[in-house]
Amino acid sequence: MSKVFYREPLHHYPSIHRGAGVYLYDREGRQYLDGSGGAAVSAVGHGHPRVIAAIRDQLESCAYAHTSFFTNAPQEQLAEMLAKRFPESSARVYFVSGGSEANETAIKLARQYWMARGQESKRLFVSRQQSYHGNTLGALSLSGNPGRQELFGPLLHDWPKVLPCYEYRHRQGDESAEAYGRRAAASLLEAITMHGAENIAAFFAETIVGATLGAVPAAPGYFRAVAEICAQHEILLVLDEVMAGCGRSGSYFAFEQEDVVPDIVTLAKGLAGGYQPLGALMARAPIHEQIVARFGSFAHGHTYVGHATACAAGVAVASVIEEDNLLDNVQTLGDLLRTRLASAFGDHPHVGDIRGRGLFIGIELVEDRQTKAPPSARLGLPARLRNKAMAEGLVCYPGGGSANGRDGAHILLAPPFIYTEDNVDELVARLGRALQGLELN
Ligand code: PMP
Repeated sequence: MSKVFYREPLHHYPSIHRGAGVYLYDREGRQYLDGSGGAAVSAVGHGHPRVIAAIRDQLESCAYAHTSFFTNAPQEQLAEMLAKRFPESSARVYFVSGGSEANETAIKLARQYWMARGQESKRLFVSRQQSYHGNTLGALSLSGNPGRQELFGPLLHDWPKVLPCYEYRHRQGDESAEAYGRRAAASLLEAITMHGAENIAAFFAETIVGATLGAVPAAPGYFRAVAEICAQHEILLVLDEVMAGCGRSGSYFAFEQEDVVPDIVTLAKGLAGGYQPLGALMARAPIHEQIVARFGSFAHGHTYVGHATACAAGVAVASVIEEDNLLDNVQTLGDLLRTRLASAFGDHPHVGDIRGRGLFIGIELVEDRQTKAPPSARLGLPARLRNKAMAEGLVCYPGGGSANGRDGAHILLAPPFIYTEDNVDELVARLGRALQGLELN
């Protein structure tokens, strides 16, 4: 009898034995094509020799030393690399161990920034319905994800939620994409009017909505409008790129394609590509300067902040992405994957929409393509789809609640950046077999 407290105690999990490139192998010898990097984590594939060597080197020199006492070369180097990628090289980087911690840190950084500026009433954090920012209590309070929040309601902050930007379901028939983008952004303005800009510290949004909606980019102009509203009302814009960042969308930061610069961006998953648990927050220089000038330091910290081995993995993953020009591959293979998915499933009776950017693609499933009726939550589609795909030798990342927070389902595809054209064909074929005979009503 296992002693592990599993995610789903009644589910039987195969035990992983080996990862090599785009494949995973279980202890029974079954092979799986990695079609989603787990949950959009694997960037450079599994078993990458340069990443393994970098981690081994760091372990041999010094695995970890608390950052209250020392800095370390890998965190210095990774901060340098990230700042060079950020539109302003003066940005500062704070390293944590995952996405929830990065967003939790962003909440506290924004609060301390406004305290430093003498605006103590700024204490509310606005975010969007149909979003996910993490499972710790602050990050879960930001999330617009009723399924994950249900049991914890009384423990969470009741912060304002605004409308998502979700063209497939919310753009009206006679509305242009740009007009819809402006309308969705106006929802933020309404929240500001209702709660008062003087009470709002920050607006949090995923640049491309990941697990909750299934790779939904914003309508054109939406983020420009949102950034202007935030600037006008002295509200920090925090973009959560825990899933969409680090190259997954085809640019290193997904916001580069939106023509905005956030005050804070959060990263995780692809930052160390699964080789180590690593997350980060990047803040524009004035935020750092204000806090240092007023308080001397940021009133925050965890034991593993700036972990040397985790950062060494991050340096190696970012170097592989750069040296092997993997962002070009993300763009080319992403376009190819979308084209192949459209020809394979464009007429599938239960495929309502295929969307995304780069190698970050969502397929929304519907009961009926005309009415866009979402599959009921009662069907438990995500777990069923995961199991069917795994039986066909494919790891993809199905999710539920896409339509309204409860009903609806999608499949998230987020393959490693090292995919080839053959891998794309293999993924589409295995997914096709997994979707065969799918009953949605
Ligand atoms: N933000 C986003 C956009 C995410 O997708 C996730 C994880 N799915 C998180 C935050 C939380 O990250 P973690 O699970 O590493 O805490």
